[in-house]
Amino acid sequence: MAKIVFRFDIDSHKCIRDGVPILLRVAAHYGIRFTFYVNVGKAISRLDTLCSLCAKRRSEEENIKMLSAKQKLGIKDYFYAAMVNPSLDRYRENIRAIAQSGSELGLHGGMNHSHWYTHALHWSYEQVKKDLKGALDKMQRVLPDYIPQGFAAPGFVTNDVIGQALQDMGFQYLSNWHENHAAVIRKECGGIPDVGVNLCGEPGGVAFWEYAAASEWTDQQTLEVFMDMVNTHDEVVVFDHPYFVALQKVKSLEIIIETLLKEGHQIITLRELALER
Ligand SMILES: [Zn+2]
Repeated sequence: MAKIVFRFDIDSHKCIRDGVPILLRVAAHYGIRFTFYVNVGKAISRLDTLCSLCAKRRSEEENIKMLSAKQKLGIKDYFYAAMVNPSLDRYRENIRAIAQSGSELGLHGGMNHSHWYTHALHWSYEQVKKDLKGALDKMQRVLPDYIPQGFAAPGFVTNDVIGQALQDMGFQYLSNWHENHAAVIRKECGGIPDVGVNLCGEPGGVAFWEYAAASEWTDQQTLEVFMDMVNTHDEVVVFDHPYFVALQKVKSLEIIIETLLKEGHQIITLRELALER
């Protein structure tokens, strides 16, 4: 039987405000736990317009199957994100609800999701630590007892300096890489385990349900792709974003969970997969 991890990255206000409550209800309904990584800062920086243009060009040039931010967020929330750009620690009740639910709550970057995605690769050790410290402080103002354990880098942007800074900050494991269908999902970075995502869209490490939507798969086709992976791999880590899967693909998610449970597979957190062997 396979071990399955559902990893959800909280990038935007729509993820934490609208997506998370739905996913927590799904987890409670089935008696399972998900793994959430939250960015407690702002979703975008002023460079975001430029980045999204680059992302669009990248998706066109490299034939990456993904949806645009406008398609995913909807026009109203796209402009809310662009104009208001709220810091996500504003949604403190929903962050606390994750912690109280028993699902895992890790960090997803530092003080600004888009800033990490665009620049972190070239930051010094001190810059990485400063950004992480800011995020950890914000998190601990929401959850005073919060202890860093898991970390997932925005856009999978990481290097050895980042790994070292994360280890020195007390993080115990990372989830900083993707490779669809990877048989071995444990690597090491800065002396701690780095467990990748092995069920996503490639090229580009596209979120699973987003890739399914961009590929125009039916729920049945999505289930078949998922179960094909589960039946050929001992450990499966799938990722998406709460607002997308919860608001657009929750039926597909439920069908998959029901099938996994019926067939006796184990749904665990990424922390458990990384640290408890
Ligand atoms: Zn992200």
